[in-house]
Amino acid sequence: MFTYNPKPQFLKNKIILVTGAGDGIGKAAALSYARFGATVILLGKTVKKLEAVYDQIIANGGADPAIVPLDLAGATPNHYAGLAGSIEQQFGKLDGLLHNASKLTDLGPFLLISQEDWQSVMQVNVTSQFNLTQALLPLLKKAKSSSLIFTTSSVGLKARAYWGAYAISKFAIQGMMEVLADEFENSGIKINCINPGATRTNMRAKAYPAEDNTLLLTPDDIMSYYLYLMDAENCTEHGITLHAQA
Ligand code: NDP
Repeated sequence: MFTYNPKPQFLKNKIILVTGAGDGIGKAAALSYARFGATVILLGKTVKKLEAVYDQIIANGGADPAIVPLDLAGATPNHYAGLAGSIEQQFGKLDGLLHNASKLTDLGPFLLISQEDWQSVMQVNVTSQFNLTQALLPLLKKAKSSSLIFTTSSVGLKARAYWGAYAISKFAIQGMMEVLADEFENSGIKINCINPGATRTNMRAKAYPAEDNTLLLTPDDIMSYYLYLMDAENCTEHGITLHAQA
């Protein structure tokens, strides 16, 4: 297992936005970035969960985070423009963006995917990430060096039956990352994808309700990969997909 041991405050004065920061892998990433000094912008759907992460960061002695309650299913380009304006006003730049939030509907045959499920998965997993990236790239460009991380899945690299819209959305994310990485080659923005692999979260439990989840790695176990890709000054990767459990 890869272990990354950066300097204790390597993210000091860095502004990092994490989507889906209230639970699972996003929560662990937000706490890790804050532990290494970052000011974290916690974006998510359930305010109570975001507040709990906020409290934990403060209790750990971290920099004051910001909370952005936003349901990506209903957010419009105006919401993202407003968010970009607030970040610019408050911080003047953005050093990191982790696209982590995503939606998994019930697994099932392709022919039974409803219009509603298709639209909502594409909205949360693809369109919202397109809109958020378009809105925040100018701020990532303002940082001396910055990092843009997308989250994929094994079924977004080699699809499997019954994973339907979720798998297809992750292929789109891989494409988005590759388009951007090529456009922003040598720009100072490191752009990559991470595939966390089977990790003990609510989403995993939904997909595999019968498995013994004590056998799975926890979000904390895979944080070295999230720290490495966020370390824009030292990360040598650009345009790749890092497998956290390969
Ligand atoms: P969880 O379901 O545990 O957490 C997902 C987070 O995203 C939650 O905080 C959730 O908020 C938030 N979220 C979901 N929908 C929305 C929305 N519409 N608007 C805003 N926030 C939203 O998932 P994981 O931590 O397991 O997954 C994190 C990422 O890793 C995802 O992209 C997933 O596809 C990927 N992944 C996970 C694997 C695993 O084994 N766990 C394997 C491969 C990939 P709330 O709690 O408020 O609903």
